[in-house]
Amino acid sequence: NTRVLLASRPHGEPTSDNFTIESGPIPTPGEGEVLLRTIYLSLDPYMRGRMSAAKSYAAPFEVGEPMQGGIVAEVVESRADSLRPGDVVLAYGGWQTYGVAVASHVRKLDPAQAPVSTALGVLGMPGFTAYAGLLEIGKPQPGETVVVAAAAGPVGSAVGQIARIKGARAVGIAGGAAKVAWLEELGFDVALDHRSPTFADDLKAAVPDGIDVYFENVGGHVWDAVLPRLNTYARVPVCGLVAHYNETEPPAGPDRSVRLMTSILTKGLTVRGFIQTEFVKTHQAAFQADAAGWLRDGSLRHREDVVEGLEHAPAALIGLLKGKNFGKLLVQVGPD
Ligand code: NDP
Repeated sequence: NTRVLLASRPHGEPTSDNFTIESGPIPTPGEGEVLLRTIYLSLDPYMRGRMSAAKSYAAPFEVGEPMQGGIVAEVVESRADSLRPGDVVLAYGGWQTYGVAVASHVRKLDPAQAPVSTALGVLGMPGFTAYAGLLEIGKPQPGETVVVAAAAGPVGSAVGQIARIKGARAVGIAGGAAKVAWLEELGFDVALDHRSPTFADDLKAAVPDGIDVYFENVGGHVWDAVLPRLNTYARVPVCGLVAHYNETEPPAGPDRSVRLMTSILTKGLTVRGFIQTEFVKTHQAAFQADAAGWLRDGSLRHREDVVEGLEHAPAALIGLLKGKNFGKLLVQVGPD
């Protein structure tokens, strides 16, 4: 059994020294548990926060313990009536080749319905985040302009496409020409490269009627360019701030919080943060039905970036925070 542990907490950008790889025995399931063989491991930006000691909405990972995340795995041995060897499940587990899970905590997948990897991406947590945050907080109306950054990732690509399904205009922001070209292929009305020196002007030209919904995934210089373009009563679902996750101190002044609060006041902005779990009870069933339908009829497309081999997970996570991934980042730990 190979496992990737958190060796030390990063200061700023994580490095390979923050991880260690060790091998040990395959665990034995107890009553009501299953032994799982990991097929796919999901890598997500929130994992950076959990590598730090600071308390957030999710508890920090422990130093000396495996990194954790969403996985798709095959049941190898079962001590529960609900699951049999050969079943494929969605679970939460360690970065390891084998692990034990409580059977009632995992969800059985139907490989005939959709490729099992989609349970970690377009049909899973990231797709759900886009759906719930956009529809519940963003509330895009036909003809309105929706802007989203990290638009080539699993959350952003779903946000833009769902905005279009709802009749809004979608403007996607991503890093580099290849991602921009893919957003155009997906049907975004405009796609922009945030690394372009003319980015702020490009955004201004792309939103002649202003911005009605800005789905915030990144913060940083993208947010700086967006704020002056927000319309009266614009909605800003604050989903993530990935541009800041590796920061060790606040950005240099001047303090711009007054400019922000003045915009919120005078434009009547709704700025509402959320963690997707708050919407699971109310929106999960509708998401599963809508997303499966959109996937089938081609109105919701997705892309996966699959890294082969558990030992490459640390480098892949480091790259995710800098835009090295192109699509939902997965590690293939073992065969499907
Ligand atoms: P992505 O696969 O989109 O990866 C993050 C992307 O962010 C990178 O690929 C990069 O893309 C972009 N990025 C990184 N740094 C910067 C920067 N300085 N400026 C602009 N863009 C940058 O990730 P996800 O789709 O999984 O997640 C997107 C966001 O949603 C994250 O902030 C994440 O934390 C958040 N999230 C929040 C949830 C919630 O419940 N609130 C749940 C799930 C995700 P590029 O090359 O285009 O720059």
